[in-house]
Amino acid sequence: MANKATVINEIKMQFPAVSINEGMARAAVSAFCAQLNPTIEEIADIKCAVSEAVTNSIVHGYREKVGDVYIRVRLYSDRNVKIEIRDKGCGISDIEQAMTPLFTTDHSGERSGMGFTVMESFTDKLSVKSKKGEGTVVSFSKKLSDREYIRYGI
Ligand code: ATP
Ligand code: MG
Repeated sequence: MANKATVINEIKMQFPAVSINEGMARAAVSAFCAQLNPTIEEIADIKCAVSEAVTNSIVHGYREKVGDVYIRVRLYSDRNVKIEIRDKGCGISDIEQAMTPLFTTDHSGERSGMGFTVMESFTDKLSVKSKKGEGTVVSFSKKLSDREYIRYGI
């Protein structure tokens, strides 16, 4: 039987859902993942997915109230990275519809409805859980290619 992958390191972050924090979250997650020595492309994919999910929490989740965004990043012994981005905002009533390419509830013309599609294409597995009035959790994982790295993990 194959050995089960174990968590070798983890971070949790919580910050107010304001747009200035989107870049910070993206940079913090990528800095944390850097210890696994990902390729530039892998780190760019992770940054992009984080950025889309955090932006969604800020602009959609908390469009009518203020609140925090919660991120958990787990690094696994098999080089899998699992990231969870959570808000306690308005929630999504129809997740399937929300994930359809080009679907957006934005009417300003600023958004293209491609956030979930981008997240799906840059990650290996994406799941969205949401409850109207309670919030949304976007979870995704990305398996990094086999490369040397320094094993300081917990
Ligand atoms: P883009 O990401 O291209 O700027 P968008 O944000 O509208 O546009 P998606 O990221 O694919 O597109 O999201 C689709 C829709 O799902 C959003 O328009 C919004 O209605 C809903 N949605 C996404 N994330 C959340 C969230 N965290 N809370 C509430 N609604 C959300
Ligand atoms: Mg979006």
